[in-house]
Amino acid sequence: MSDDLRIDRVETVLVDIPLRRPHRFARASMNAQPVLYVFVRTAGGITGTGEGVVPAGPWWGGESVETMQVIIERYIAPILTGRRVDEIGTLQRDITDVVAANLFAKAAVEVALHDAWARSLGIGVHALLGGAVRSSVPVTWALGTEPAPVVVEEALGKLDAGLHHSFKLKMGADEPAVDVSRVEAVAEKLAGVAGVRVDLNARWDRLTSLAHLPRLADAGVEMVEQPVPGSEIETLAEISALLPIPVMADESLRTPSDALRLARLGAADIFAVKTTKCGGLRASMEIAAVGAAAGIPSHGATSIESPLGTAASLHFACAAPGVTWGSELFGPLLMAEEMAVEPLRYADGHLHLPEGPGLGIDLDPDKIRAFRRD
Ligand SMILES: [Mg+2]
Repeated sequence: MSDDLRIDRVETVLVDIPLRRPHRFARASMNAQPVLYVFVRTAGGITGTGEGVVPAGPWWGGESVETMQVIIERYIAPILTGRRVDEIGTLQRDITDVVAANLFAKAAVEVALHDAWARSLGIGVHALLGGAVRSSVPVTWALGTEPAPVVVEEALGKLDAGLHHSFKLKMGADEPAVDVSRVEAVAEKLAGVAGVRVDLNARWDRLTSLAHLPRLADAGVEMVEQPVPGSEIETLAEISALLPIPVMADESLRTPSDALRLARLGAADIFAVKTTKCGGLRASMEIAAVGAAAGIPSHGATSIESPLGTAASLHFACAAPGVTWGSELFGPLLMAEEMAVEPLRYADGHLHLPEGPGLGIDLDPDKIRAFRRD
């Protein structure tokens, strides 16, 4: 048994997964989502898989799939080789001695270790996190930065199909006054039928936020995500105090220490927790626990993961009691190709926890070959 859990090899494969439509952020746009799959293979013949992924390149947090590949192959894989998949705590400590920051890369590795360990035990990853407290999470759909009629049409289509009941609009690509008018138009059209939330992706400064955010609240927007840069936690606290609607922290929140500081300053009403940006499942559990202790609900947020990374985030979201503010785990729905042998199940506005060992997801080797980057 003990030798079976020893890590023989760590491999990485870079793929570019085509999207159904271009996905736009304030500073970036993408037609395909680059994903780095990390395979941890044990002496016992088990493979655990993790996913390194960021939203459309290094603009969000400095890492990209290319930097992750170098960090993992050159610096992390030698630490893992010969060690056991069930010594995650000591492996993480040893990795951090060699590699600072790079939380997205570390998350891909940490998830692969959990997948391999859970598969070796024949249990789901959620069981390693304390067990599932829910078997599904609601999924919000993210609308792009296109003009109001375009995003309203997309939202109504999703509502009619019963796929989603709330929507998040990306903002920050236009002049603030133009952007606010666009969102007001969308909120007016969707009033009474669906919730509308906005994500500024850290694009506005303090004065722009203080001038324009109250208009969004007046228009019926139900939540504002990260209007100002991640480091400006004091400004986030000022905005939280000003607005009658909840403020969600995303770029400001990566570590349990960040969570504690946000809570102490009253800077966020909701935590956006991504297993990717936070360095993996365990750190995500810790952040949600800090939030729960402070009365701050967590939201299962996304970096636009493929089915594998989405499943990892889902196991976290179902295992963490504090994730009571839904999710935006829609990544696979944005992709034009199904990367999993058995797709994740979206139904009734929810994403349902897959059964089966590990993450409960097997990638399709033919699809990996088809979209592999040379
Ligand atoms: Mg965000």
